[in-house]
Amino acid sequence: AKTKGRNRYEFFDEALNAKNRERNLLEKDIYCAIERNEFHLVYQPIWSIDGQHIHSIEALIRWQHPTRGLISPADFIPITEESGQIIAIGEWVIKEACKFARKISLEGGTPPSISVNISSAQFMKGGVVEIIKRELENNNLKGANLIAEITENLLLSDQEDIYLQLKNIVALGVELAIDDFGTGYSSLSYLKKYPIKRLKVDKIFIDEIVTDVDDLALVSGILSLANSLSLSTVIEGVETQAQLATLKKLGSPMIQGYLFSRPIKEEQMLELQRNNV
Ligand code: C2E
Ligand code: CA
Ligand code: CA
Ligand code: CA
Repeated sequence: AKTKGRNRYEFFDEALNAKNRERNLLEKDIYCAIERNEFHLVYQPIWSIDGQHIHSIEALIRWQHPTRGLISPADFIPITEESGQIIAIGEWVIKEACKFARKISLEGGTPPSISVNISSAQFMKGGVVEIIKRELENNNLKGANLIAEITENLLLSDQEDIYLQLKNIVALGVELAIDDFGTGYSSLSYLKKYPIKRLKVDKIFIDEIVTDVDDLALVSGILSLANSLSLSTVIEGVETQAQLATLKKLGSPMIQGYLFSRPIKEEQMLELQRNNV
């Protein structure tokens, strides 16, 4: 019976497609990644549209795998969201981002806020409000030093519990931003219900904005919607001068994209920040 079981297992294993196998391998490696110090954060400045002033800084996770090299968060964050590993990783990210904000504030001047991606799973499991509160205190920061980037799908569930957590985060002085705005399944009514301060317009609306009149109309519409609701806006994925010129005609949203800066290492970000006025 033992042999039979093993054969069945092997058959099943072979039937798993390469993607699943890859996924399981990564999931196993992720378990040790925090202790082995394989994660680090990089930072991408969010600029005023004239490129003169850094308004805030998004923290983005990177995984330096011992044998596979640098792995993109797009390739491992979804795995961690399914496995629950995102809870510990998300806590580590908040901790690191707050330590970084502390470093900036120790250098004097007004530190720009650090924008942190918070996965919906971190809200479902709970505890994220306490983690934010604790790390702000530990690093002697104000709530305004942090921005929480959440996604529309979190608000879709429309649970009282989520609403309360978000309210408590805002009560700490932390701003809420909707990431990848316009790509989720939400209705717009949540903009009224939840204390949102900022919309981040996804790169997919920007890629063809110079040539595609529909994209132009959509972005223009989002900017006027945000304007009438007194929300600030960040345009993601701006790569060319032509895109920037198009956006300037629509208003003065904040700009995040390779045209102004790629995500950079902590030391480089500190250096940039020293020259930020
Ligand atoms: P996101 O939150 O939408 O982050 C923006 C992504 O766009 C980043 O990719 C950034 O490097 C990239 N980007 C910025 N400007 C440009 C541009 O001009 N052109 C192009 N082609 N790309 C640009 P990244 O760092 O690879 O992150 C991918 C996604 O992984 C993030 O998308 C976010 O959803 C997730 N992620 C990253 N760090 C974290 C984290 O700490 N926690 C969680 N939960 N998710 C994270
Ligand atoms: Ca983000
Ligand atoms: Ca985004
Ligand atoms: Ca995105």
